[in-house]
Amino acid sequence: MGFLFVESLPGPKIFKCKCCKVDSSSHDDIISKDFQGRFGRAYLFRTVVNIFLGPDEERKLLSGLHIVNDIYCSSCQQILGWRYEKAYEESQKFKEGKYVLEKERLVKEVLLLGTSFCLWTPQTMDLVKLNCGASLVSYTNIGGLGFIIRNAAGIELHAASEPSAFSTILVGEAETVRMGIPFVVAAGYT
Ligand SMILES: [Zn+2]
Repeated sequence: MGFLFVESLPGPKIFKCKCCKVDSSSHDDIISKDFQGRFGRAYLFRTVVNIFLGPDEERKLLSGLHIVNDIYCSSCQQILGWRYEKAYEESQKFKEGKYVLEKERLVKEVLLLGTSFCLWTPQTMDLVKLNCGASLVSYTNIGGLGFIIRNAAGIELHAASEPSAFSTILVGEAETVRMGIPFVVAAGYT
């Protein structure tokens, strides 16, 4: 089995492969954000990492005939975009050797004060969110459990609460999850 070398990029804004989260390119290497990909909007980059290229292919694009190579993530083999090997029209020559990555196939990671996070994407319609919470009266074992299940539109599907007795708030929180999950399963979500 081969050893996969994964390169990490420096800088505060990094685009990563959406599928496997290895670094793909830096925000600083964007030449243009105004490109059309197969799956919607795409960006033109000076350089990308953690990829391998497919064979040369002649392809008719919106801006004319080009020789391109498809770009694959070297970690998960997902197709990420294409590279311009050759442009026939003079006005398109600036793209030669440059890389188009599909926005839809990337996540942008923004580094802020030494911590990193991925930009939030809303849950899809086939998912529900179960919010659980417990409360406990100080120095007693008297408390309550409650949960609410919402769909992607934020509409409440089910909510319940009940008084309960437990030793610590962590036990209460865990009990609430145990209480809520059967309702999610009963509603047809697994
Ligand atoms: Zn990947």
